[in-house]
Amino acid sequence: MGSFLAGKVVAVTGAGRGIGRAVALGCAAEGARVVVNDYGVSVSGTEPSSEVAEAVVKEIEAAGGEAVAVADDVSTMAGGERIVRTAVERFGRLDGVVCVAGILRERMLFNMTEEEWDPVLATHLKGTFTLFRAASAVMRRQRAGTLIGFTSGNHQGSVSQANYASAKGGVISLVRSAALGLHKYGVTANCVAPVARTRMSAQVPMELTEIGEPEDVAALVVYLLSDRAREQEITGQVYTVAGPKIAVWAQPRELRAGYADGPWTPQKIADFLPGTIGTDPMPMLARLKEMAAAAWDGRAWERELGAGGWIGLGWDRARGDYGNRPATLTQQVVWAEEYARARAPVRLGHIGENLLAPTLLAFGDAAQQDRFLPPIARGEELWCQGYSEPEAGSDLAALRTTAVRDPGTGGYRVTGQKIWTSLAAEADWCFVLARTDAEASLHRGLSFLLVPMDQPGRIEVRPIRQLTGTAEFNEVFFDGALARAEHLVGGAGAGWRVAMGLLAVERGVSTLAQQIGFAQELARVVRLALDSGATGDPVLRDRLVRQWAELQTLRWHALHTLAGAGGPGAPSVAKLLWGGWHQRLGELAVQVRGAAAALGPADWTEDRPYELDTGQRLFLFSRADTIYGGSDEIQRDIVAERVLRLPREPRPARDRKEPQP
Ligand SMILES: Cc1cc2nc3c(=O)[nH]c(=O)nc-3n(C[C@H](O)[C@H](O)[C@H](O)COP(=O)(O)OP(=O)(O)OC[C@H]3O[C@@H](n4cnc5c(N)ncnc54)[C@H](O)[C@@H]3O)c2cc1C
Repeated sequence: MGSFLAGKVVAVTGAGRGIGRAVALGCAAEGARVVVNDYGVSVSGTEPSSEVAEAVVKEIEAAGGEAVAVADDVSTMAGGERIVRTAVERFGRLDGVVCVAGILRERMLFNMTEEEWDPVLATHLKGTFTLFRAASAVMRRQRAGTLIGFTSGNHQGSVSQANYASAKGGVISLVRSAALGLHKYGVTANCVAPVARTRMSAQVPMELTEIGEPEDVAALVVYLLSDRAREQEITGQVYTVAGPKIAVWAQPRELRAGYADGPWTPQKIADFLPGTIGTDPMPMLARLKEMAAAAWDGRAWERELGAGGWIGLGWDRARGDYGNRPATLTQQVVWAEEYARARAPVRLGHIGENLLAPTLLAFGDAAQQDRFLPPIARGEELWCQGYSEPEAGSDLAALRTTAVRDPGTGGYRVTGQKIWTSLAAEADWCFVLARTDAEASLHRGLSFLLVPMDQPGRIEVRPIRQLTGTAEFNEVFFDGALARAEHLVGGAGAGWRVAMGLLAVERGVSTLAQQIGFAQELARVVRLALDSGATGDPVLRDRLVRQWAELQTLRWHALHTLAGAGGPGAPSVAKLLWGGWHQRLGELAVQVRGAAAALGPADWTEDRPYELDTGQRLFLFSRADTIYGGSDEIQRDIVAERVLRLPREPRPARDRKEPQP
């Protein structure tokens, strides 16, 4: 037995189970005599019983300690008084009260009843008040004592616990009031926000990444009750304890202020507040948005689109309709634009739909088309593109992944490393460009293979964490992965022709849709500029107008080249136009907010280092716009050499560059 609380008397509410029980046992183990209170109710506060409190008393006594049970309801004044009186009558004094008792009645705010609101507030908040009220009178006379309230990280707000969050916020204010009001009587008051495995935490709807045991909480409570904490004058504090972590919460304080010349009017406030006093974003809201995004089931959405026949509207139908809808070019444009305008979800299936399917229609045989196009159209099979390698990006023909004939199966064994492979973690299949003939010249030795991704031990996908903190692309390691012989597209050694055909796929329709998204982003940036006052800067204003004008140019260019017009340089010109435009928009998105753009939407923490707002994410991700799909330099090479017929740069024979996604 320790002696941290030797000679002290402590009353613990809600001490029959979970954290309260661990606190009672912990206090007793450190030498305190303990009043064990528990009303013995269920999580929702019904079916009281005195057995649980008595059981804990027996445990304490069995360990050689001293304790008394009080099976009273803390939400009544009489209950609070009886617990305190029991301590004084039985043990002669009261040095600490710890208010752990609590119940849950969860419901969305718009459905919450009075029967759900009142008991939760009564148990947590009033149940702390009744104890603090009675105990502080005793402690004031003693000129010593410690009050401990139990709060929760959810005092910041909680989706379906308006009652609980309000009570827990109230407990903090009550504790701070007690700390201020009782300071001169030598009484301290603090709050503990525990994260521990109990029957109550089992009901928390989100995964708790940091969680500990009730005993971790007990250790902190014992310390706060001890003279060691009192010597440090710890009072008015809120501590989170979650397993190995203890954290102190900031005291609420004003963050930013602004002053008016003369009285405020709604108009003055509307003009002044955004971008100056602004807001302090809720970290919990950011977390919720993240969870909603993570919970979004991209595959289900693909199947939904497939069931409606919306995938592959632009496919060549010479050989059939693959279960999707026929659509004229104009209808395809309308669909793509409306999809973007409705802010419908980002697609997981676009690589299969827009890159592989047109390639199979152009270069695949009938069996390949029949096997692969229907599941793409139904949204059932997702694809990724295995082109780039660590030493072969722009210089794609230098790739080193090999595919050798497998005598056992008659297929190909693929070995090598691909990189920057978007959506590889989600994909069912990968179209891989691999070297099948080491002897042939660089371009002629390549083949285009369709490889199933579900080959444990033979294919490993390692996500690459990006500047934005997310991991949309991956490294993919192939170690003898099998591709069936009939899944070789265009014949052995024809890979370069197939791959280049794929890269030349007409992107007019998707470019138009992309521009709807661009227009929405530009509108957001303009709004930010208006809010921050950046439009007052003539240079920034000029750049915003230029950005708008260039977007119109992009649109006319896309419309002009839609039906294949525009010549061989058109795709390169389009890529150069939109890649640079979008990157400059990303720069504007942070510039218009000035220095404020350097701050994340929430406080930095080690475990959540990548809190970015929309503008910051746009800025960082758009750095890639001039790289993927063929970098700007490569596009200019193409325009220079193939359209303008300028003399080629001298280069080694093998060092020919081609664009790629
Ligand atoms: C967001 C994103 C998603 C991607 N998704 C995929 C995917 O799903 N599958 C896939 O296979 N790949 C993917 N890539 C890879 C992408 O295609 C390559 O990054 C791109 O081809 C450039 O190759 P690299 O990164 O090896 O750069 P390098 O080829 O090494 O180029 C480095 C720099 O040198 C310049 N350069 C290279 N050659 C020349 C030249 N001849 N003349 C002038 N300048 C030159 C380039 O423009 C660039 O600035 C993706 C890339 C990004 C950013």
